[in-house]
Amino acid sequence: MATDQSITLDQIQDFKGKYPKQLWYLFLSEMWERFSFYGMRGMLTIFMVDKLLLSEKAANLQYGATQAFVYTLAFVGGLFADKILGFRKSIFWGGFLMILGSFILATSPVKFFYIGISFTIVGTGFFKPNISTMVGSLYKPGDPRRDAGFGLFYSGINIGALFGGALCVWLGKHYSWNIAFSLAGIVMTISLLIFIFTKRTLGPIGLSPLLGKVSDAKIKVYDMMVYAGSLLVLPLILLLVSNSNYTDMFMYTVGPLTLAYIVYETLKYNKIERQKLLAAMIFVIFSIFFWAFFEQAGGSLSLFADHNLNDKVIGLHIDPNVINNSSNSLFVILLSPVIGLLWLWLNRRKVEPNTVVKFGLGFLFLSLAFYVFYYTRFFADASGKTSLDVFTLAYLVITLGELCLSPIGLSIMTKLAPKPMHGVMMGMWFLASAYGQYAAGILGAGMATVNEKASLTEKLMSYTEGYKQLSIYALIAGVVLIAISPLVRKLMHEVH
Ligand code: GLN
Repeated sequence: MATDQSITLDQIQDFKGKYPKQLWYLFLSEMWERFSFYGMRGMLTIFMVDKLLLSEKAANLQYGATQAFVYTLAFVGGLFADKILGFRKSIFWGGFLMILGSFILATSPVKFFYIGISFTIVGTGFFKPNISTMVGSLYKPGDPRRDAGFGLFYSGINIGALFGGALCVWLGKHYSWNIAFSLAGIVMTISLLIFIFTKRTLGPIGLSPLLGKVSDAKIKVYDMMVYAGSLLVLPLILLLVSNSNYTDMFMYTVGPLTLAYIVYETLKYNKIERQKLLAAMIFVIFSIFFWAFFEQAGGSLSLFADHNLNDKVIGLHIDPNVINNSSNSLFVILLSPVIGLLWLWLNRRKVEPNTVVKFGLGFLFLSLAFYVFYYTRFFADASGKTSLDVFTLAYLVITLGELCLSPIGLSIMTKLAPKPMHGVMMGMWFLASAYGQYAAGILGAGMATVNEKASLTEKLMSYTEGYKQLSIYALIAGVVLIAISPLVRKLMHEVH
């Protein structure tokens, strides 16, 4: 493997077959990282209620804030990768912080909860966007195999999410939270080791952007400053995360500031590149709405699953919350190759929809899925419990929507941004997720306005009414996107 260090970018990008071999290494590394991440994510709310004795409302807000910070920091992680560290060192540093965070939590989850979570948040910020950007670097501009590559990568994400989400919470609930958090740390170590041992195969991809521009000694100093800076910022993250009142303030300032920054950066580029960046921003903005609806999964849909669903799916008895947490990942794994093949098949017949239309389709599926969530009310029994089968069907539909938007969104960020802005635009993509998460909490809270003593039937009506509204909004978004697709296509120039 050592000899691969000399491999050139052309040799990597001129790979034969469907996928470059490096994709498999990034796939494995990201799979274990997502195992750790979704393992943590799946434990948070339950742990906060059971062990930190937070009220359900507080735990939900806290959960939303944590998720929002994770994805906000992805913007910062992408920015520093572009400017100073490069993707490799960012991934290494992020992975290292995530491991530290998990083991801090494992030592004493109650005592060190917020500090452990803060390490994980900063670590994920450095890891997550940059490994995604590296996938894009494996392809030449215009290589038609890029979307399929991101599709495969997305399956890896969900294999990790499926097992991590299920195993960690099960260990925590039935054995010990210390062991569950240790597991998150162990798998993150595996992820990082895979990355360290295979990174030689990446040739020049992901090396410091400063290489050759400033002296090696200076690069070291800059690197150290980023490392030190990210450690210094930890107490601030700790403060923000442990007090969800600050979340609003934070979210209101970060968005406009980053937008101003992106506008400033785009001034350096010519008209065509600026138009492409504008197209990328349109995708980013629509994706905020997508995630705001989609992420009901972690909030209102999990409460809905808890209260209003029976436990029978295709004749089997399964906890509705398990279905709520894992069916989406399972469907992604099963459907991602099918969708990939469908795009190829349509492509050969020259009728493959372009990216904008695919995004529009994503919203139409989202709309249909929420209509199915709404429709569960017509299957309810007298006690207000309704069909888990229909609920699962809605997850199948929502997953089709996700697959039209999310892997394609990752791919398009690397196609539309000029190379020095790859990391930051990927960060923007995840920043949209941050806002989506944040808005999801607010939307979910809005649906839950029935009083605490409401009957199950009243709760059912209240939530499903909310889902009907979301279905209408998603439909409007989808129609708007498809209607403006010729315009956005123009802004994208040769990219599709
Ligand atoms: N489920 C995907 C992942 O974990 C997408 C998450 C997101 O962008 N909100 O990577």
